[in-house]
Amino acid sequence: MDKSFDLIVVGAGLVGCAFALDVVQRSNLKVALVECRPMATVDVRSPSISIGNQRVVALGMKSIDMLRRVGIFDKLTADQAHGYTSMRVWDESSNGELSFDASDVDQPLLGYMVDSQACTSILQEQAISFHKVRKASSGLTCFFDTEILSIELAAQRCQLFGSDQFHIKAPLVVAADGSRSWVRQQAKIQSSRLNYEQRGIVAKIRPKASHQNCAWQRFSKTGPVAMLPLHDNYCSIVWSLDSSHAEQLLELPDDEFCALLGQTADWKLGEIAEVSPRQSFPLISQQAQTYIAPGVALMGDAAHSIHPLAGQGANLGFKDADCLANLILSAKPNEHASLSLLAQYQKERRPDNRQTDLLMTLLNQGFKTSNRAVSAVRGLGMNWINQTTFIKKLLAEQAMGI
Ligand SMILES: Cc1cc2nc3c(=O)[nH]c(=O)nc-3n(C[C@H](O)[C@H](O)[C@H](O)COP(=O)(O)OP(=O)(O)OC[C@H]3O[C@@H](n4cnc5c(N)ncnc54)[C@H](O)[C@@H]3O)c2cc1C
Repeated sequence: MDKSFDLIVVGAGLVGCAFALDVVQRSNLKVALVECRPMATVDVRSPSISIGNQRVVALGMKSIDMLRRVGIFDKLTADQAHGYTSMRVWDESSNGELSFDASDVDQPLLGYMVDSQACTSILQEQAISFHKVRKASSGLTCFFDTEILSIELAAQRCQLFGSDQFHIKAPLVVAADGSRSWVRQQAKIQSSRLNYEQRGIVAKIRPKASHQNCAWQRFSKTGPVAMLPLHDNYCSIVWSLDSSHAEQLLELPDDEFCALLGQTADWKLGEIAEVSPRQSFPLISQQAQTYIAPGVALMGDAAHSIHPLAGQGANLGFKDADCLANLILSAKPNEHASLSLLAQYQKERRPDNRQTDLLMTLLNQGFKTSNRAVSAVRGLGMNWINQTTFIKKLLAEQAMGI
């Protein structure tokens, strides 16, 4: 095996895999993609509520454009990607309400609800198909189920070592290995971390009333609950709650959970007829203090994790991938790992990611307050925005990533 590459991407999740494919398809660079787990698989027995991964990500049109560009979006089935046309947000403690429609921004859709595991699996299949046609001097080489045992990071000279004499090298390593990024730790990059002491309960539900292809979100003092529209009138829920409260809800029998959810959502979707097995995830905010070090760039959750209340985490990761890919593709030959290019990447992406993180933290805290004056002002603000066309348009464009 030729062990020299132009670029090594560590982590074949949504972000790392899309990034590696994008670079390979638009350049002559020789790229290695290293993933510690076996290839992701999808249970295709039926789109039933009770099986498979319950995690769905709301992706704006800019992220969908990237999935189209790397050639996988059309491979997702209707069960795996569902377009939504509107969004309704309302507040428990005031009469505040906000609604967005794709028509506000002259678009047919605001975005898609995408099955995260199916999308990862199809991206990885696409990566493998490029692996099969790689040439000696360019293309993609995939290493799944490969544990990196040690790493040497230096400007223009990085090396990865694993078992069975696995040894590869490249001028640049892109860390897309998730929020606990091992590469980030090896590069000695610190990160600031805020534990919300909350968990996000994730499940699929089937409400009795039509979801109308609308993403519903109610803010309450216990935390936000989102009901995101899927195929066949199923919805994906993300219910963020204080950890002890979440534990209680995870233990509830299905009928009691459905009743509580219906009530918490003000019966906007009527009674909840069915719920899948529930999963939960700890909610944190984490920001790497720098995205770059000699020979290394961080992207996606390796660089930043945010509260999921506005469904922006993966969208920000795709923006990182798009930005770094564009910078690499416009670099002069052999300069794709230069410090100035990496500095430009950090300059373009870090402020956006930090501002979004801060906004999520403020929204999460701001909607939890029981102060009646704050609630009243919040309600007035939401209703004012709702009636102010140009601000609504800006917010809708922000949500779509355009
Ligand atoms: C409850 C919840 C709901 C969410 N909803 C949304 C939403 O609606 N919209 C949205 O945009 N975002 C959402 N997010 C955020 C989104 O899920 C993440 O931002 C996104 O999945 C991050 O992708 P990633 O590829 O950066 O990292 P990951 O998905 O974590 O992928 C990292 C990959 O790296 C691999 N890896 C790890 N360590 C190593 C190693 N040492 N060597 C090799 N490989 C390694 C892992 O196996 C994995 O494949 C949500 C998050 C939560 C918790």
